[in-house]
Amino acid sequence: MKKITIAENKIRETVKKYGTPFHIYDERIIVDRLNNLISSFNWVDFKEYFAIKANPNPHILKIMKENSCGVDAATVTEIQLAEEVGFSGEDIMFTSNLTTVDAYQYAVDRGCIINIDWAADIYELFENDIIPENICFRLNPGSIENEIMGDSKESKFGSTAEQIKDAVAFLKEQGINSIGLHTMVVSNENSSDIFGEYTEMIFEFAREIISEFKVEIDFINIGGGIGIPYQEDQVVDVKAIAAEVKGSYDKVLKANGLQPKIFMESGRYITGESGYLVTEVIKEKETYKKYLGVDASMSDLMRPAMYRSYHHLTNIDAEARAEKEFENYDVVGSLCENNDKFAIDRRLPKSKLGDLIVIHDTGAHGHAMGFNYNGMLKNGEFLYTIDGEVKQIRRDENFKDYTNTIIGGY
Ligand SMILES: *Cc1c(COP(=O)(O)O)cnc(C)c1O
Repeated sequence: MKKITIAENKIRETVKKYGTPFHIYDERIIVDRLNNLISSFNWVDFKEYFAIKANPNPHILKIMKENSCGVDAATVTEIQLAEEVGFSGEDIMFTSNLTTVDAYQYAVDRGCIINIDWAADIYELFENDIIPENICFRLNPGSIENEIMGDSKESKFGSTAEQIKDAVAFLKEQGINSIGLHTMVVSNENSSDIFGEYTEMIFEFAREIISEFKVEIDFINIGGGIGIPYQEDQVVDVKAIAAEVKGSYDKVLKANGLQPKIFMESGRYITGESGYLVTEVIKEKETYKKYLGVDASMSDLMRPAMYRSYHHLTNIDAEARAEKEFENYDVVGSLCENNDKFAIDRRLPKSKLGDLIVIHDTGAHGHAMGFNYNGMLKNGEFLYTIDGEVKQIRRDENFKDYTNTIIGGY
């Protein structure tokens, strides 16, 4: 049975004090995953840049800072958020796409690492006298397949090897002799083999660039994409993933006297399992199927609706009653969209009005993907700290927040 790592009485106290629904994150899990990732890559000069988009709450970003990580920002707003927490300069990797000159200017002025998606942008930057100190190029290898990311050739991200080579030749003419390389081709990937496969490809590309252009590759950012065991029987072995990467690194780079740093920008792996969405059963309904209506909706957690992803559910009240009977339910939110379902035909202990249902693994791409469609107000977030305290880190939105940007006079 999938365990809830946060003490049940702490969850119940939070429900009593603040009501449902809310996300609560277990700091111990976040720190554990960070330590596991970092120690798995202790064979190389390694740094994790946490992908802000996975969980952009500044209290969460602060945990990354306390654990010597950087952050990966995709937009100027995410850079600003990182700055609020005290990240600066090279601790911020700016991995954007369709990037405007203004956005580059903002990031370059702050000394961020500039991870360039469309290699030809470099010519525009130099024309505008925007000269980044740290330049990195995002490679689209065109030949790797993964379930969420799909076929790289169909991916809008990155540039081809040839385009990057042209850009490197240009930089070389401008007197720039050191760059970084990046690729991100997998998402929620549990098998370690593919990490060996695509890192070998990007390492080979690095070697080619070095020998062809006599430039230094300072670091290679191998992206995020490490999965988490959403299903109980899944296993994600980060040590095995790191061993695959080491295999490629030793074979392609180290054996040739090259030792660039390795960066990752994991999001899901770091915070995904730390989060729980706590929601209450507010309606039982039976038509052609049995429904459990809960007070959370896909505006709190979009993954099941968007990707049909599995999130484990625990009815903690039915467990407390030691409920023996089971039923198949669709567990649904109240949005006027038929895909607002957390689970379809899920076998759960017989549930009652008022039961608390805990939805697992909501710490990444959960609250972060929230929206206000249908007048859904975004719900609060809590941190269960290492000291065992529950700290409110975001309040619920209210009607005033919802209408705040509307111009009056109607
Ligand atoms: C989304 C994203 C990540 C984080 O991915 P996870 O699957 O959460 O690890 C990292 N880098 C880039 C460029 C991304 O778009």
